[in-house]
Amino acid sequence: MLFDPQICELKDEKFAPFISVNEIETILCKSQNPSPEQIRSVIEVALSRRRLSMEQTALLLNARDEETRALIFDAARRLKREIYGERIVLFAPLYIGNRCINNCAYCGFRASNTDAIRRTLTDDEIVHEVQAMEAVGQKRSILVYGEHPAYDAEYIAHTVRLVYGTRHDADRINRVNINAAPFDVEGFRTVKEAGIGTYQIFQETYHPEVYKRFHPSGRKADYGWRLTAMDRAMEAGIDDVGLGVLLGLGDWRFEVLALVRHTNHLEACFGVGPHTISFPRIQRASNLDRAPLKLVSDEDFMLLVAVLRLAVPYTGLILTAREPRALRDRLIEFGVSQIDAGTQLEIGGYAERRGAQDLDKEQFELMDTRSLAQVVDELAERGQIPSFCTACYRKGRTGEHFMEFSTKGFIKRFCTPNALLTFAEYLEDYASEESRAKGYALIERKVAELDDPAIRSTVLDYLTRIRAGERDLLL
Ligand code: SAM
Ligand code: SF4
Repeated sequence: MLFDPQICELKDEKFAPFISVNEIETILCKSQNPSPEQIRSVIEVALSRRRLSMEQTALLLNARDEETRALIFDAARRLKREIYGERIVLFAPLYIGNRCINNCAYCGFRASNTDAIRRTLTDDEIVHEVQAMEAVGQKRSILVYGEHPAYDAEYIAHTVRLVYGTRHDADRINRVNINAAPFDVEGFRTVKEAGIGTYQIFQETYHPEVYKRFHPSGRKADYGWRLTAMDRAMEAGIDDVGLGVLLGLGDWRFEVLALVRHTNHLEACFGVGPHTISFPRIQRASNLDRAPLKLVSDEDFMLLVAVLRLAVPYTGLILTAREPRALRDRLIEFGVSQIDAGTQLEIGGYAERRGAQDLDKEQFELMDTRSLAQVVDELAERGQIPSFCTACYRKGRTGEHFMEFSTKGFIKRFCTPNALLTFAEYLEDYASEESRAKGYALIERKVAELDDPAIRSTVLDYLTRIRAGERDLLL
């Protein structure tokens, strides 16, 4: 059983606000000081692959001592290994423009920040950016925009098509996601028709009062319009949505429980939860006032990632290069399934940037500045398969994370083999000789671990053909 019947019976209505501060705070308050026994019994539910209720999630979030937290970390590690295997999907963001009418207090692009250097890429510049990304092996990208009348649904759809249509030799971006201000239902239909993968938008904070404080003006000041964005996206037929909160604004336990509440709302109203969840922590930005922030410590951050892994086990967890390398390495073990690599935040940065980060040209500071090649090498050294797979999207299998989780044997049959095959293509087309040798050593080990002889033999055959120059051989 995947969905808790209680969740399916939720009396939520589409397009209606569903967050009650009182409900979330009461649940958090009633779950103080959980005993190890309570934590163990919640973990048992999670490891049997069931969604956790808000009450169960709150018990995990309130684990404060080392012993109970260690139980949660172990369980998240186990769930990740058993369900998803040792592979990690790689992508890179592409900032299209930073004009913005809003005044989000934490963001370098806010309208009142007169030091921000404003720029929107021309079509030619977009093509150059994409070619520069393709030339190093990127296959998945998320396009990012400020909120501005110039970036309406038609314009965004146009940029998505432009990216899909851009080639560097035979290289191409196979999946284009977007992170853009919410549209009305019609607008969502427009961007869906352009073939977007995931529509991603972060609520930033689910607490209405905190929200008001950090979003004083502009379209984004309307909490309800943003809260119901995913309802409109799903109404328009986009069933691939990415939720998120910006950590450092409100109480992190409240925000994580609200993410679970949002997931319940989508499941109850549309029968499908989020494709991904993101949980960025606020980083340094141009003229950022840090005084009102409630920064989240590394220890709490690790716990909340592990709790999300257990609470919403079918959802992809995204951890961006906002976080330093060592922490990213640890969190991959606890359930993170997608990371960006080789990221440039400066607008035009893939084709043009030479030099240090300049916060007046970027939304915030990046902590992990490794190239895609370095990230790939280091993942492989640690036994993780870097995956560039976009097979589900290309073969029309939407909701890939959900299928991975819910379809028995799906990961062994599709995801692990496809991760290995796309990694081999990367090694052939973009890697140095040394990286190629190391990468193939990992592939050999992982192929030997495939327990279905028919799949193993298909993968071996495809690997030979990839070495001989064939591409796009996917299961
Ligand atoms: N303008 C659109 C919007 O606000 O929805 C697109 C998103 S914005 C370009 C991408 C995300 O970056 C925001 O939703 C926010 O969560 C995050 N962000 C903004 N300022 C940040 C900062 N100083 N540190 C880390 N993340 C930040
Ligand atoms: Fe604009 Fe988005 Fe930055 Fe807010 S977070 S100021 S909407 S770019």
